[in-house]
Amino acid sequence: MRRDFQGQLCAYCRRRQSEAEDHVVGRGFIPERLRGNLPKAPACDDCNSRKAALERYAMAVFPFGAVDPVGAEMLRTRAKQRLAKDQRLLREIQEGKEDVLYVSPDGTQCKTLAIPFDWRGSFELFEMLILGLLWHLNRSPLPDTHAVRLLALTESGREWFRGSVLALSPDKYQEMRLGGGAFSYRFTHNAEDAFFSAWILDVYGSLNICASTEDGRLFRVFVAALTGPDAIGGIADRIEELGSRTGNVVTLPRTAAGKTDGNGRAGDDDKYSRDDHERSEVC
Ligand SMILES: [Zn+2]
Repeated sequence: MRRDFQGQLCAYCRRRQSEAEDHVVGRGFIPERLRGNLPKAPACDDCNSRKAALERYAMAVFPFGAVDPVGAEMLRTRAKQRLAKDQRLLREIQEGKEDVLYVSPDGTQCKTLAIPFDWRGSFELFEMLILGLLWHLNRSPLPDTHAVRLLALTESGREWFRGSVLALSPDKYQEMRLGGGAFSYRFTHNAEDAFFSAWILDVYGSLNICASTEDGRLFRVFVAALTGPDAIGGIADRIEELGSRTGNVVTLPRTAAGKTDGNGRAGDDDKYSRDDHERSEVC
């Protein structure tokens, strides 16, 4: 283990000593030729294996919703291999796929194929990505006094979040692309507190994840996050409350920062689906 990782607290649970160097964005998301300079963070054994389990699912399923060439390449290669090794997941996808009606923000509708999407496990992984990136940027874990809250934004909500929240500290604003754009983030933080931050995450261009309205129509969802002192919870609550009234935010059940005690995926009750334009290549 690298010297600056030794004796560090795990970036994810922030409680146990680290025992491994973890690639914050798993190498399996990215073609080999694009894997240089990926950020790493210290991880304890438990978090390392929890994250690896979440990544195995994500590496098989995320490429289905990719809108960029790197994701399409991973769909043809790694996703196919992973599904061949995971018959249970393959069956779940085959049994869960369906024709759906997608409604874009301008009101146009199109028919497409969707597969089930484990948003709970995926959002747990997104939370770990944020914690790992924060460690990478600050060389120390998110303080105990701070929390992470993920937000699921609609298309208009993404613009609103970018124009308001991400614009709050323009001199700290960064855009970063990793692995040839396989993973990118927009990020800003408070001038006095580097862990008081706001994020928009994009995987493979921008994953085509959809949530459904009560009448079953689908709309796209984008992933954003806030981190900060515990009060961030109240701020996120207000954003969710306001945002859901104005059609900018989709309300999600809470996840806990650095959660490591889950076992397996919880996808049975999910109502989120992923649009899938290239599904036929795999299933
Ligand atoms: Zn840990």
